[in-house]
Amino acid sequence: MSNSSDNLHFAQKIDKHAKSSLLRPNSKLEHALSNSKARGLPPIQVSPLAGQYLAIQAQLIGAKSVLEIGTLGGYSSIWFAEAGAKVTSIEIDPKHREVAMQNVEGLDVEIILGAALDVMPKLAEEGRKFDMVFIDADWDEQYEYFDWAVKLTRPRGCIYVDNVVRALLESESTEEGSESQVAKIGRDPRVVATLVPTVSSNKGVSSEMFDGFVLAVVKDH
Ligand code: SAH
Ligand code: MG
Repeated sequence: MSNSSDNLHFAQKIDKHAKSSLLRPNSKLEHALSNSKARGLPPIQVSPLAGQYLAIQAQLIGAKSVLEIGTLGGYSSIWFAEAGAKVTSIEIDPKHREVAMQNVEGLDVEIILGAALDVMPKLAEEGRKFDMVFIDADWDEQYEYFDWAVKLTRPRGCIYVDNVVRALLESESTEEGSESQVAKIGRDPRVVATLVPTVSSNKGVSSEMFDGFVLAVVKDH
């Protein structure tokens, strides 16, 4: 029989092995983490292995442009920029944006200050299209972000929605009966999507060990 502390131990063991085997030292990323911590930002950026996943995904589709919803200190922006994409990131909090601007210095990253649901329609009006959209902001509005992301993604581009499993698990008790974001995405004829469940000890607590993201590809007709 296993219990949740055993499970956290297993997740830690896997993470430790994968991180030490697969990740390479990167002073820009390390500086972003230490500066964000020093400036008092919450440590809610993607895990290092998830960051490397995003960078690989961007390279697999040859992404030259990435739209990111939720910048925080620019940690995930750095992963995308170093994978060869021009990054447009939207952040609602002026302090987060300011710290991120320091952290991404020298990289091709534009950070727009504003609420995603104000900024995304403007980008659409300007006719902007991106190869990949990474959604990682307010969980309550995730489906609205997704809807705009589809309009802002080129055919065969992809959309990654972070923390979908945590949002599902946490909403279950509060919003009984309301249609989940996953169900809405599943009904959307413009995309084909899957859910990739993840196990990670990154947050250090067993209650946050299970998470997962939705990856969608935008159809070309
Ligand atoms: N992508 C980052 C982490 C983002 S954390 C990384 O992995 O490095 C979520 C961020 O979304 C926070 O900085 C928060 O201020 C921002 N945010 C929350 N609601 C938002 C909204 N409606 N529009 C834009 N940004 C928002
Ligand atoms: Mg996240």
